[in-house]
Amino acid sequence: MKKSALILGGGGFIGGHLAKRLKEEGYWVRIADIKPRHEYWNLDDICNDYISCDLTDPKWVEAVMRLETITNGENLIYTKGQYNRQPFTKDHPFDEVYQLAADMGGAGYIFTGNNDANVMHNSALINLNVAHEATKKGVKRVFYSSSACMYPEHNQLDPSNPNCEESSAYPANPDSEYGWEKLFSERLFLAFNRNYGLDVRIARFHNIFGPQGTWKGGKEKAPAAMCRKAAESASELEVWGDGQQTRSFLYIDECVEMVIRFMRQDRFSGPVNIGSEEMVTINQLAEMAIKASGKDVVINNIDGDAFQAKYGFKCPTGVRGRNSDNKLYIKHMDWQPTQSLYDGVVKTYQWIKEQVDSNGE
Ligand code: NAD
Repeated sequence: MKKSALILGGGGFIGGHLAKRLKEEGYWVRIADIKPRHEYWNLDDICNDYISCDLTDPKWVEAVMRLETITNGENLIYTKGQYNRQPFTKDHPFDEVYQLAADMGGAGYIFTGNNDANVMHNSALINLNVAHEATKKGVKRVFYSSSACMYPEHNQLDPSNPNCEESSAYPANPDSEYGWEKLFSERLFLAFNRNYGLDVRIARFHNIFGPQGTWKGGKEKAPAAMCRKAAESASELEVWGDGQQTRSFLYIDECVEMVIRFMRQDRFSGPVNIGSEEMVTINQLAEMAIKASGKDVVINNIDGDAFQAKYGFKCPTGVRGRNSDNKLYIKHMDWQPTQSLYDGVVKTYQWIKEQVDSNGE
């Protein structure tokens, strides 16, 4: 019998790639997302059902966790291949639920402060609904996507030596409300595990990037923003801040591999980092995007008053240093990512360049 997977937030970047992988493996895949459809994938390639709905509403979370196809109105955007066993009962729950839905974006969305209330309210509601309903429905295993943004700011002040070991999470001091919500929801899923036996896997993503993700509009992350700027520009690439802040970036295919390996083992629930240990400065990332473009473009770092005057808010750069620490992942999964950042940037640049060209920009 086919295994079933529900991907909440599967209309987004990581969810779309994960759905594609599971569908290729022969899973029956349902996506639920507030978006009317996936922007970059044919639904046929990534899922059997696509339901467009707001997961802050508990009624929708209940509905999408039933196995029978939902037929009410226009929310069922796409369906192909009815699930071949009876509708949900406690004995026939989803095999795997991936909870990726969140109100989120890059630095311009998370760190300006303007979206704090929405980020906390919307994401917390989704997680409260999912933990509760997955327990009621007897879902076999739930993956929760936390973020490196939950790590304390005081351990990430030195750009060359940040500490993001899983055990360094407490005493807590994330530098954004987004990070606080992630920390709360990690604890929420762990509490449902302790009190109700919900089988959870919790991962902390560190800057995932690649094609088929948000690349414009304000919610894009640094690698996509750099690639877009390199593709659009003939002379100059603007980098927010002094460019000396450090980060690591994990290519999407390796992220999906890490999620699946983590999900398919019975020894360890996390939280665990999912990221790359190849740490670079943001200016080095920009240089890679420029190299991938083959253009003669120079970096323009914009900060302080100049930034405030141009954008009307303080330059949102986040912590000074951050790198994934993969020791715990390697210990439990005996696997680690190996692709170089530059190889991933090249593939991402090529895809974004196509988008820029076809958007007439
Ligand atoms: P994404 O924004 O592309 O995907 C999130 C999806 O959630 C979107 O498609 C969005 O429409 C959906 N969503 C938001 N509110 C919803 C609602 N009320 N009801 C239904 N759907 C809703 O983001 P992503 O990069 O794919 O990230 C997936 C998860 O991983 C998120 O929880 C994010 O916080 C976490 N994460 C991502 C990264 C990264 O680098 N991409 C890093 C750390 C953590």
